[in-house]
Amino acid sequence: MFRNGCEKMKYCNLCGRELMLKTLLDDSEEMYCEKCDYVYFDSPSPAIILLVHEDGRVLLTRSVGWKHTYWGLIAGHVKTGETAEEAAVREAREEVGIDIYNLTILGTYLHKARNTLMIAFMAETNVSQLSLSKELENAAWFQLYDPLPLRPHSIAAQVVKQASTRAR
Ligand SMILES: [Zn+2]
Repeated sequence: MFRNGCEKMKYCNLCGRELMLKTLLDDSEEMYCEKCDYVYFDSPSPAIILLVHEDGRVLLTRSVGWKHTYWGLIAGHVKTGETAEEAAVREAREEVGIDIYNLTILGTYLHKARNTLMIAFMAETNVSQLSLSKELENAAWFQLYDPLPLRPHSIAAQVVKQASTRAR
């Protein structure tokens, strides 16, 4: 699951020693293990967010357990050994059972509260029939230019807006 961005790392992942603050050459301070000579940058972890469109429609999803009524886009963490593009292809298969093509990067968005860097893509598919994973409560195609049921100003809403600008 997502890591809370407020938590600072205290101990070295490699040797277990308590970390210290180290001032780097650019005067920034980061947690540091003296024994391993390793700097722990508090970098966001990468995740993908994917807008799939087909014939003027976009694919929206709702995860199990969402309390609000908004929909979202396919999303998930980039796993070890994977590129962001591979993660996008895998998530599309896992979440809704579709193969995608024409995968294009749109940009990146920072989800500060979750210390996650969302890498946004758009892609197309030939498959209309969806097969939902257990993580999803629902998935459906929506007309792109209708008002979409996305949370205003959410990263999903920004991604759709950016993709619509491109499509014109
Ligand atoms: Zn260490």
